[in-house]
Amino acid sequence: MKIQCPHCKSSCTNRKSNQVSPMYREITFTCDNLECGHVFVAAISPIRTISLSSMPDLSVHIPLSSRIRKDDLVKTMGTAYSGKS
Ligand SMILES: [Zn+2]
Repeated sequence: MKIQCPHCKSSCTNRKSNQVSPMYREITFTCDNLECGHVFVAAISPIRTISLSSMPDLSVHIPLSSRIRKDDLVKTMGTAYSGKS
């Protein structure tokens, strides 16, 4: 994963990654510009669901995109609660 340095706008390289929880990951980045030298931690977290999981974990709560069809949601949740696949 490449992202832009917030200070000098050069590319940055991820050096390590830590899955803090199922909903939150921290990634340490180092700026590729040696004159800048910025090292920082960024976070990744799901913010909305665009396509429903076929294996939903009912303890995971991610807001749904307005693009999700209600009949798909009812079908998926019904399967999850009944344990059928
Ligand atoms: Zn930089």
